[in-house]
Amino acid sequence: MISARNLVKRFGDFTALDDVSIDVPEGRVCAVIGASGSGKSTLLRCINQLEPTESGEVLVDGKRIGWTEGRNGPHRASERDLRLQRADIGMVFQHFNLFPHFSVMQNLIEAPMAVRGLSRAEARERASNLLAEVGLEGREDAFPSELSGGQQQRVAIARALCMEPKVMLFDEPTSALDPELVGEVLRVMERLVKKGMTMMVVTHEMDFARDAADRIVFFDQGKIVESGSPGQVLDSPEHPRTQAFLSRLL
Ligand code: ADP
Ligand code: MG
Repeated sequence: MISARNLVKRFGDFTALDDVSIDVPEGRVCAVIGASGSGKSTLLRCINQLEPTESGEVLVDGKRIGWTEGRNGPHRASERDLRLQRADIGMVFQHFNLFPHFSVMQNLIEAPMAVRGLSRAEARERASNLLAEVGLEGREDAFPSELSGGQQQRVAIARALCMEPKVMLFDEPTSALDPELVGEVLRVMERLVKKGMTMMVVTHEMDFARDAADRIVFFDQGKIVESGSPGQVLDSPEHPRTQAFLSRLL
C-alpha cells in the first residue's frame, strides 16, 4: 500500500536519506525507530512529498505520488493533483499542528470541503463521528489552546481521518505529551490498527511497537540498517544495533 523506492534526499552536501526503500502492505503497521537526526521525519516528509527528493519514487496504492499519468506518459503533478494525492496520506506530527484560530470542528472540516468536495453538512457529520471515536464528543467548539496535548493530538488524528486517507503516517505522535497523556493517544492508534489501517509510525514507544507493529525498521544515518518482526528485532541477537540503541533509551 505504501512503497518507497530508492529515496535519496540531500540537504546541501548532507545526505539525509541514502537510498531508502520500504514497503508497507495493506493493513500492516511499520514502526520506524532510530536516533535523533537519523532521517525518520525526512522519510515521512518525502513519502508525502512535503519535501522533494533527489531521486526515487513513492507509490501509495499503486499510484505514484507527485506524478500524473498523461497521454504522453507520466509528468509532474499539478498543485491540485498533488493535493488530491496527499489527501490519501494522513499525517500526524509530534506537535499536533492544529490551526490555532480554528475551532476543533473547523480544523476537521476545512480540508475535506476544499479538497474532497464535501458539503459543509457532510463534512460536519463525518467530523462528529470521528470526534466521538477519539473520545472528544461535545468538544466541537473548543479551540486547540483549551485542550490538553493528548486531546489536541486526538483532534489531529481525527482531522487526518476526516480526509478518509488510505494510509496514515505518524511522526513521534506521543513525544510531546506529558507521560500521563501518552496512553489516550496510543489507545486511539491501537483502534486504528485493529480496523486495518495501513500505518507507518515513528515512535520510541516500544510496547506499542511490539504489540501493534508487523515490522520494525531501525534507521541510522539515513539508511535502514536493521529490520524485522518485533520478535526478531527486539529479542534476537541478529539485530545488535537496534538492541544497543534501545538499551540506551531505557
Ligand atoms: P529524525 O526525525 O530522525 O530526528 P530528521 O529527518 O528530522 O531526523 O533529520 C535528519 C537530518 O537531516 C538531520 O541531520 C537534520 O539536521 C537534517 N535536516 C532535516 N531537515 C533539514 C532541512 N530542512 N535543512 C537542512 N537539514 C535538514
Ligand atoms: Mg524527527
